[in-house]
Amino acid sequence: MKKSKTIEEEENSLWSAGEFAETMSSSDMEEKMKTFHKKHDENVDFNCKKCNAKISAHNKDWHGGMCDDCFNKENTL
Ligand SMILES: [Zn+2]
Repeated sequence: MKKSKTIEEEENSLWSAGEFAETMSSSDMEEKMKTFHKKHDENVDFNCKKCNAKISAHNKDWHGGMCDDCFNKENTL
């Protein structure tokens, strides 16, 4: 009588899927994605690296640490 390996194989694929998900979710990226969904005027606890104006966590992470004005200038150069 031959034992079926189907359940064992299924368990193995579940394990590798779990490990895959584990490597995909870098905690750094998760932290950064939090600020991506924040409004531009939320968490205004940072300063523009160019003109020292108050900037939000969103700008710090996604606008190169600059206020909207400096970021726009940098990108139109
Ligand atoms: Zn600025």
